[in-house]
Amino acid sequence: MNLLFLVLAAFLLYTIYRIVVEVLAQREHLSDETIRSLLHGKLRKNEEAYRRALIHLGTCQKCQAKLHSYNGGEDIQQQVIDDLHQD
Ligand SMILES: [Zn+2]
Repeated sequence: MNLLFLVLAAFLLYTIYRIVVEVLAQREHLSDETIRSLLHGKLRKNEEAYRRALIHLGTCQKCQAKLHSYNGGEDIQQQVIDDLHQD
């Protein structure tokens, strides 16, 4: 009984820890380098960094504006926008 409780508590703490780390990572603004990498297709779609960047872009107007200011061609940004609404 005690062991089961400990295992559950540990699992719960680990889950909370993962969520907190994820939320903090998504709140961080994208670096210029990340935005450039995104625009130049240097971030792989299955990479964690790409996913994070997209999630952040979906909620942060500052970074969206930054992305837009770097964006040379409409096609690239449209591709990113398409990916944003894929899920
Ligand atoms: Zn941002």
